Amino acid sequence: MASMRVLVMGSGLLGVVTAYVLASRGHSVTVIERKSESAAETSFANGGQLSYSHAEPWANPHMLGKLPAWLFRADSPLIFRPRLDLDMIRWGIAFLRNCTAARAAENCANTLRLALYSREKMAVLMRETGIAFDYAEKGILHIFDHEESFRHARMQAAFQARFGCEETPLSRDEVLALEPALAATGRHLIGGMLATLDASGDARTFCIRLAEWCERKLGVTFHYRTAIDAVRRSGGRVDAVVAGGRTFTADAYVAALGSYTSLLKSIGLRLPIYPMKGYSITLPANDATPHISLTDGSYKIVFSRLGDRLRIAGTAEFAGHDARIMPKRIAPIIAAAKTLLPLAAWDAPREEWACLRPSTPRGTPTLGRTPYANLFLNTGHGTLGWTLAAGSAFAVADVIEGHAPEIDLSGLTLKGAAS
Ligand SMILES: Cc1cc2nc3c(=O)[nH]c(=O)nc-3n(C[C@H](O)[C@H](O)[C@H](O)COP(=O)(O)OP(=O)(O)OC[C@H]3O[C@@H](n4cnc5c(N)ncnc54)[C@H](O)[C@@H]3O)c2cc1C
Repeated sequence: MASMRVLVMGSGLLGVVTAYVLASRGHSVTVIERKSESAAETSFANGGQLSYSHAEPWANPHMLGKLPAWLFRADSPLIFRPRLDLDMIRWGIAFLRNCTAARAAENCANTLRLALYSREKMAVLMRETGIAFDYAEKGILHIFDHEESFRHARMQAAFQARFGCEETPLSRDEVLALEPALAATGRHLIGGMLATLDASGDARTFCIRLAEWCERKLGVTFHYRTAIDAVRRSGGRVDAVVAGGRTFTADAYVAALGSYTSLLKSIGLRLPIYPMKGYSITLPANDATPHISLTDGSYKIVFSRLGDRLRIAGTAEFAGHDARIMPKRIAPIIAAAKTLLPLAAWDAPREEWACLRPSTPRGTPTLGRTPYANLFLNTGHGTLGWTLAAGSAFAVADVIEGHAPEIDLSGLTLKGAAS
């Protein structure tokens, strides 16, 4: 097909991978980013999990039971700071509507389809670029200390197996044999599930190296320190983006602005994306650092070894666009992580970080077409942006080129996203 000029807005995971796919297909790609490098916002220090098998949305019937106890507790994995914010209220109502068993199953199936496609496309990307980013293909081990949650995980795994997921239940002894670092735990673990298709890696290193590769090998132009002030429209099309005092024009425009895709409100596009704040800490690895990425469902925190570092991430807080690091939110993550890994390098200097996941009520991203013929979306990936980046970018590139994507995008587009 004829080469197009494409302008990608945002240089996080979704923007960079989109630029890569389009440029490798021969299009002329420009990326605009307000920060001084790629992955400086939500893609900066995430949990590192490529959790292709972890597709159960936050909106599910079991969440309804947990919400009352979780919502207002300071050390809860889910925190809600009530405020008069119409976007938050609308988002919350749509979230509750998605908590039925039928909606949760549908959203899970849609996420899984994209996740497994992502796994396939990530392999292609890694093969073609050869970039290193502390990638580890060891699966993800989910651990349990309550029979009820272990049983639920086995049922969920049976449902997901229908779509091609492979998860193996493990006894406590098998968990400890697989990850000896857990032997020192102060918790009474009863078992685990090994998601064998899953992997882990450093999203920021990936993004920065892929952006460099795109510049060097594919001629992509990155304009850093260039904040987008306005998207200009004319009739049913976008005709320019005004950023950093300049006017950029292209044949097609892709919004990959994460939690700031709300910028499109100015042209009448109201997306159901609300920031869900999360935190991470990064410690140096030591002899007691797990080698396999872990998910601790009881505290909703994840652990990934990234080379010589241990990344621990968690918390979902609804507090608008406030991305400040609050020590009182970090403290419960550390306390929970210490119960699991008491011998990790807790006395070493650590890095702390907070950022905003671009979350949708149904838990699926918003991809592809908009009412503007040449404006496309690759956003709303919430807790799974690293996991879903490759598949999303390939699918969105297909839509931009005007042909059917390799996977069915039902439930993954703007259509019905707000309901
Ligand atoms: C604590 C935490 C842990 C997580 N763990 C995992 C995990 O283990 N696995 C997983 O799959 N996902 C995880 N995620 C989710 C994942 O990190 C996100 O879904 C993903 O980073 C979103 O990428 P993005 O490109 O959409 O957004 P971003 O990375 O935020 O990129 C958007 C870019 O747009 C730029 N931008 C915004 N406004 C403008 C403007 N006006 N002008 C110019 N540029 C602009 C921003 O600066 C930013 O660089 C986690 C998230 C958090 C917060």
